[in-house]
Amino acid sequence: MPWVNQSLCTGCGVCVDECPVEAISLANGVALIDDENCIRCGRCHDVCPEEGVRHDSERIPQEVEANVQWAESLLSHFDTEQERAALLERLSKYFNMRMKVLEESVERLRSLQ
Ligand code: SF4
Ligand code: SF4
Repeated sequence: MPWVNQSLCTGCGVCVDECPVEAISLANGVALIDDENCIRCGRCHDVCPEEGVRHDSERIPQEVEANVQWAESLLSHFDTEQERAALLERLSKYFNMRMKVLEESVERLRSLQ
């Protein structure tokens, strides 16, 4: 999903007016995107004069870190090295499965063109 870098947003409201599904509102002087309603048209990104609406890819490091922190929180439930290794193996399989789902979804989407 597109997201707003609050330190770049001046609260001008241009993106609010341009969003075709009213998925953007202003809160405390900055734009806020409602991920549930956003249809990913990209208009907000194109019209923002401050480059405040950012691409998903900039969030990759944060999302990776969130996954690692999630795994670390789960590890705290296991005491032995063997149990912890088994959990990490299961989590790796889980992420591999997710990766395959996403890769195949991308292939299917491309075939829709
Ligand atoms: S167009 Fe850009 S600067 Fe203006 S409110 Fe939207 S995100 Fe903020
Ligand atoms: S990507 Fe489109 S639908 Fe989503 S918030 Fe931006 S303008 Fe609205």
